[in-house]
Amino acid sequence: MNDSNSWLRIARVVVDVRTRTLDEPFDYAVPETLSDTVAVGCPVLVPLGPRNVVGYVVQRVATSTITRLKPIQSVLGTPLFTESAYHLARWIADEYAAPLSEALRLFLPPGGAPRVTRQEGPEGVSWKLVSPTVKAAEERLVTLIDATFEPSRASHLQRSVVDALREGPVTVGELTAELGPVSAALTALEKRGAVSLVSRRRWRGAGGSPTRPDTSHTLSAAQESAVAAIAAHPGSVFVLEGVTGSGKTEVYLRAISRVLAEGGGAIVLVPEISLTPQTVGRFRARFGPAVAVLHSRLSVGERFDQWDLLAKGEAQVVVGARSALFAPVKDLRLIIIDEEHETSYKQGSAPRYHARDVAARMSESGITVVLGTATPSLEARDAVDSGRWRGLALPDRVTGAGRPEIVVVDMGAEFGDGNRSMFSTALGEALDEILARKSKAVLFLNRRGFASFLLCRECGFVPRCPSCSVSLTYHERGDRLVCHHCGHNEPSPIACPRCSSPYLRRFGAGTQRVEDELRARWPGLAVVRMDADTTTGKGGHDRALTAFEALDSGVLLGTQMVAKGLDYPEVTLVGVINADTTMHLPDFRAAERTYQLLEQVSGRAGRGAEPGTVIIQTYWPDHPGVRAVESRDANILYDEERALRKELGWPPYSRLANVVVSGEEEKNVRAAAASIADQLTASADDGWRILGPADSALARVKRAYRRHILVKAPPGAPLGAALRDALAAVTPAKGVSVAPDVDPVDLL
Ligand code: ADP
Ligand code: ZN
Ligand code: ZN
Repeated sequence: MNDSNSWLRIARVVVDVRTRTLDEPFDYAVPETLSDTVAVGCPVLVPLGPRNVVGYVVQRVATSTITRLKPIQSVLGTPLFTESAYHLARWIADEYAAPLSEALRLFLPPGGAPRVTRQEGPEGVSWKLVSPTVKAAEERLVTLIDATFEPSRASHLQRSVVDALREGPVTVGELTAELGPVSAALTALEKRGAVSLVSRRRWRGAGGSPTRPDTSHTLSAAQESAVAAIAAHPGSVFVLEGVTGSGKTEVYLRAISRVLAEGGGAIVLVPEISLTPQTVGRFRARFGPAVAVLHSRLSVGERFDQWDLLAKGEAQVVVGARSALFAPVKDLRLIIIDEEHETSYKQGSAPRYHARDVAARMSESGITVVLGTATPSLEARDAVDSGRWRGLALPDRVTGAGRPEIVVVDMGAEFGDGNRSMFSTALGEALDEILARKSKAVLFLNRRGFASFLLCRECGFVPRCPSCSVSLTYHERGDRLVCHHCGHNEPSPIACPRCSSPYLRRFGAGTQRVEDELRARWPGLAVVRMDADTTTGKGGHDRALTAFEALDSGVLLGTQMVAKGLDYPEVTLVGVINADTTMHLPDFRAAERTYQLLEQVSGRAGRGAEPGTVIIQTYWPDHPGVRAVESRDANILYDEERALRKELGWPPYSRLANVVVSGEEEKNVRAAAASIADQLTASADDGWRILGPADSALARVKRAYRRHILVKAPPGAPLGAALRDALAAVTPAKGVSVAPDVDPVDLL
């Protein structure tokens, strides 16, 4: 392939073995015969101990410190990633304390990498090389080459085929779909020189054809200046702040247009849940076949083809979920991350990277990054405040629709007035009206209620940890309250410590009752439920939405899911049944999440001509997130949160890592967690704090028992390296797994 490589007789290879200790690349000799084919990114078969394993070439070098090198056995394919991808994988592995081979895997084609698997047979264990599971698909294209050809009268099918081809070439698949089995007719026509058949690559599609024709708007002044700023500062990270409907997507489209015109490529990340055909359709409407799509609901064959479209340069833009950040876009110049604050941008398994932070790292090599959101994370806010990132704002809805009226109901006061129902007087009357006027409502029910907390139904008091300020979780075992950040625990009080009311109740359970109560009180009201239980299986989510869309009048009752991206102009009422569940998540980000959720939910009301109303029911009407939404001033939330996080040392004013230790044997889990904590304490720098080990808020998941350790360090501290060293020094008992999570977004 490259003559100048022949003197680089050594290849550095990352072996694809999932253990923490085999992380450095190994040196192998490049046999003379393979010198032309061994290139960076190639999968190769290499000896490792007594067996052969798959590895990836990451460098060609001239010398090695090792004298007797084993040779590469064979080359298994053409390059799958570039050298710069390797450097990024290395950074990810270091930053997030993940195995290098796992980080490299992010860059490999879906289902398109070879593996070696272990086979247990009668003679013991053997190893077998498995080729990529997915292959390129082919199709045959039929072209009419003799337009004057007249099939015999008897052959109707041949006649139909020829007629179909007069408009232009058609694939055999399309002809079959239209006319039934055509292969005999095609053979006959080909033999007589009427048509030609040519094989070509069939790109398995990803749906999302344009649902609406593309409309190119005259940009508002704010959009105009956002587009100009993005063009003027390549390599910057922008935070584009604007509510739903403020025209952010239009800004993305313009920025992409510009990049395409200059011959570059772009990546657009959207939370998986918002990656609907409508979303994809908007990009397809503007950029047509230049758009590839990648998300987990596609089949592996479809993902492989979409990936390959980019690798081959057939498509220049990818719209996808988190992992599309690593798609092989040629000459990548722009990364857009919509809904920057979404927790789904953090991967839940190794390597536990955060797409936003990896994108920020990529900007250092000149790629422009645009983070869009209506409710920036505190991390993004802080980066803008400190001048590391650039802030852009779209202050108004371009559609002209006003913001809905926000009504906050104090449920403690309702309770005091004798209303024991889940529906406040205000929400009850609003639902009466929905029924009377035959309109539509969305009711939002937070059901992340596995962790229950104590709540005073008269004054709204919830016990919190004295040192972490997070809500304490109620544990039936021993009737105690426990802090899941630091392990603090105390007996559960009998009366409210603030107002002495005896109505101190567990909160967070029994939400199924909402549906029952709704049906009992408003029998004439159609109810569509949408939550994890009712939307399992492929398309379940869409089915629920279609059912709601088909209604003339009714209620969509749902969990988190209904907060995202729904756009129904006919919805005039949004009700939040229990805002408190999010307020009291055992996580220091609870207030931020509450604000984001309420803001997002209120974006669902009044998107059409009719003005909308949002009713928020809560025992804590003074919550900064509630006040921020009510008075349309995000700074109420941000100012309070900043002060609190600075005082208690939570991110972004510190850096966190969470080490989750889990396994079936409680004793072994405890022992491993304790020695990891000791190891971390011994090696910690000044200013670092090790919290725990404490039980996880989700102490038991399936049959496993979980404990965790929190490491708190100054911003920018090298937590990845510290974790790697500490974990390397501890060998947990069999059956115990250790999961390091740097910059966690979820501490449950
Ligand atoms: P966001 O992404 O912030 O929710 P969109 O870009 O989707 O906002 O814009 C909301 C709606 O307004 C879309 O239907 C879009 O086509 C339209 N729109 C966007 N920009 C303009 C504009 N400058 N003038 C008129 N309509 C616009
Ligand atoms: Zn009270
Ligand atoms: Zn605590």
